[in-house]
Amino acid sequence: MTVLLRTKAEFREAVTGARTAGASVGLVPTMGALHEGHLSLVRAARAREARVIVSVFVNPTQFDSAADLAAYPADLEGDLAACAEHGVDWVFAPSVGEMYGGARGATVEPGPLAARWEGEHRPGHFAGVATVVTKLLAVARADTAYFGEKDYQQLRIVEGLARDLDLGTRIVGLPTVREPDGLALSSRNRRLGGPERAAATWLFRAMEAAAAALAGGERDAGALEAAMREVAGAEPLARPDYLAVVDPVTLEPLTRVDADARALVAGSVGNTRLIDNIALRPSGPRGA
Ligand code: AMP
Repeated sequence: MTVLLRTKAEFREAVTGARTAGASVGLVPTMGALHEGHLSLVRAARAREARVIVSVFVNPTQFDSAADLAAYPADLEGDLAACAEHGVDWVFAPSVGEMYGGARGATVEPGPLAARWEGEHRPGHFAGVATVVTKLLAVARADTAYFGEKDYQQLRIVEGLARDLDLGTRIVGLPTVREPDGLALSSRNRRLGGPERAAATWLFRAMEAAAAALAGGERDAGALEAAMREVAGAEPLARPDYLAVVDPVTLEPLTRVDADARALVAGSVGNTRLIDNIALRPSGPRGA
């Protein structure tokens, strides 16, 4: 049975109670409207931990646009049903007042990994993410928290936070779940209408083009980025923000790809902004 927790006190009691009793606890932080991508994290947590808790909180401080926040999908009933089906022990779904009530404006500075890419295009986004993740881990120290590689920069930032601030929770990153045509699952995909849904594959197609050029022997990062831009340019509904080839740890842009790298892409289709990434490996199989 999945128990719905509404307060931080209940959340803390559930996690610390389980850990005191010797049970490992895995936390899967989400903003709800759960899909197979989220559920892949839940399954991994379920397989590895004695207790699993999913948080469902649309965190207003990580939205840089009020319209984006207002349009963000919510489906707590559906989320609870999906969690029950997947053997989740608790769902922590606090109100904004419960999460931030009494707060006086202290925030967590996410550090240099947040400077580029999403950090540049969504000012304040990663401070919001860093603050809410730190709060979730501070309220109740789960043994492990599970995040998706889908939000690759976020994953790297959260790993850094846990390490640099000694948060006491292990961070695990898991591969991106995709539709058969390559589109990464995202709660925002619900907003893609008609022709936008087909056009939204431009992000994955662009990265595939870079991976194909790499497999063909191209090592120049500028040429790989040009291959991505060409795909984006051929899709009339695509409005790319960035198409980059970066170091997988520092997220700094590369000039050459002689070791493992990451392709990062972001942009819009109509009014819907999407992000994606894949591993770029100069030899051997490609990553998710
Ligand atoms: P969100 O609800 O979008 O904040 O996502 C919650 C968690 O699910 C984050 O760690 C995401 O990276 C992860 N996630 C979102 N989409 C996917 C996906 N398609 N595959 C794997 N993980 C995902």
